[in-house]
Amino acid sequence: MGYLSLYRKWRPKTFDDLAGQKTVVKTLKNALINNRIAHAYLFCGPRGTGKTSTAKIFAKALNCEHGPTPDPCNKCFSCQQINSGRSVDVIEIDAASNRRIDEIRDLREKVKFSPSEGDYKVYIIDEVHMLTKEAFNALLKTLEEPPENVVFILATTEPHKVLSTIQSRCQRFDFSLLSIKDLKERLKYICEQEGISITDSALNLIARTAEGGMRDAISILDQAIAFSGDKVTIDDVNTILGKVDQQILAEIVNIISNHDTKAGLKLINEIVDQGKDMNQFVKDMIFYFRDLMLIKECGLQNNLIDLPDELKEELADQASKFSIRDLLRILEILTETDQKLKFASQPRLLLEMTMIKLASPETDTSMANIINRLARLEEIVEKRKSVFQKPEEVLTGKERKEEDKAVVERNRIEKETESQQKDVKENQLDYEAQIESKKRTENTEVNEGPTISMGEMEKYWEVTMNLLNKNAKTRKLRAFLLVCRPYKIIGNTLYIIFPRESTFHKTNAEKEIDLLERALKKVIGQSFKVVCIFEGEEAITKQKIKSDAQEMTPASRANQSIQLIKDEVEQDPIVQKALKIFGGKIIKVENE
Ligand SMILES: [Zn+2]
Repeated sequence: MGYLSLYRKWRPKTFDDLAGQKTVVKTLKNALINNRIAHAYLFCGPRGTGKTSTAKIFAKALNCEHGPTPDPCNKCFSCQQINSGRSVDVIEIDAASNRRIDEIRDLREKVKFSPSEGDYKVYIIDEVHMLTKEAFNALLKTLEEPPENVVFILATTEPHKVLSTIQSRCQRFDFSLLSIKDLKERLKYICEQEGISITDSALNLIARTAEGGMRDAISILDQAIAFSGDKVTIDDVNTILGKVDQQILAEIVNIISNHDTKAGLKLINEIVDQGKDMNQFVKDMIFYFRDLMLIKECGLQNNLIDLPDELKEELADQASKFSIRDLLRILEILTETDQKLKFASQPRLLLEMTMIKLASPETDTSMANIINRLARLEEIVEKRKSVFQKPEEVLTGKERKEEDKAVVERNRIEKETESQQKDVKENQLDYEAQIESKKRTENTEVNEGPTISMGEMEKYWEVTMNLLNKNAKTRKLRAFLLVCRPYKIIGNTLYIIFPRESTFHKTNAEKEIDLLERALKKVIGQSFKVVCIFEGEEAITKQKIKSDAQEMTPASRANQSIQLIKDEVEQDPIVQKALKIFGGKIIKVENE
């Protein structure tokens, strides 16, 4: 007798032998028990998940001498004929190789004859999505008027390619990928029956490599046994798969966390020289870092990774060397490399480049990496602040933080304003105003001297006007402000000046001046009290400022008095003439 592959030898013979697919099995068994057999079934799912095996068991269950039964005996003539593939009533068609209309026409002719041995004629059409359009239509006609005692089982890995008119005539079952546990159990059972001793780590590796497909899992086991005889270890499996072993993967993790590019490149060259499969190597790294990510996010007790506990602990230790952002970045680079490797003419070079990117993040100029590095910097700054801050410096630190926030906010608003976005939310200002007033009541504001010049204020003014124009609620205010201009900043007060004839504008602007103050705060990042004055009122204002100054702190009073002297000097006819001739401006006024 020739060599029978393990996969064929250990094809499940009963529903109970089937790994996984509990729902499918339960539903089919119930159909058999209640004798409610449909004319057509559609089995969908990835390869190696048991579609064809289930179809054959179902065929036996229908035709068994003791049937229809959920437990075919596998002993009677009918069962044995089906098991050996010689039954005349169970017809297997591989649509991938028989996709022409002739085969389906042939099928339509033969389908009319009643079953010769058993009760049912069962057509199993594998990879049904491969049929041509004409063949599909011919099949559809058969399904529309199914003869008695004929059951069609259509299997496909790509159900979306099956005509919806066919799908609607079938009872559909979805086969899912098998879990590592299911795969391991079956592999272990086969090894026991075959008298093979295999280590748990080897079983694990096979199950993980098979990625949910039983056929692949058993094929790998078959190869491993052929390679190493009746004792299979993880090294054997690594060798036949061209995989690098776990130790090397662990080493790579260390290299990346230590940013040791040199060691990384050396290791890559060793792996390539050993003739390892580079595609497989990148896939293994992806799996490895995925495990690290899952452990990092979900902890050790999670069902997402099926590994022995001691290995999990080792992985947890490695995961602690990375932040979740690091792991995401690494996985992004690796999946990109995985894609590129398929078309790479220089796979070795691609792998070396990948290693450099992984081990030295500063060479990675992707946006994700830059954001990652910024976040890292922020963390460091925060840490330093809390470590080195002495108690009396706390306030300064806080202020600085506020200032940073303001700068960020200001930049954001400037950007927002300059771009032509029109979707500023109506209540945004209101909301921020609430926060503002809350803040104001919480901490009494320190009275500071002017921190921006009039030139700067004029620029901010324009931005502020644009901002007001964007919001329906503030658009009216902006219209009233069109006629005025910023005049002077003294302390935290901004004086804006209206033409004499614009009483209407000024009065209405004053009613909503708080909206302007809020907008200015948003744009400049500093609070200003806004006072509206008429042209020609400047002199009165000066008096008022002088009296206001009495209540101020010494520092701001000094600031203001210098400002006032500056104003007075500016007004001086001789100085004005000098300014006109030399085209200069007054920078500093000194008291004698
Ligand atoms: Zn039987």
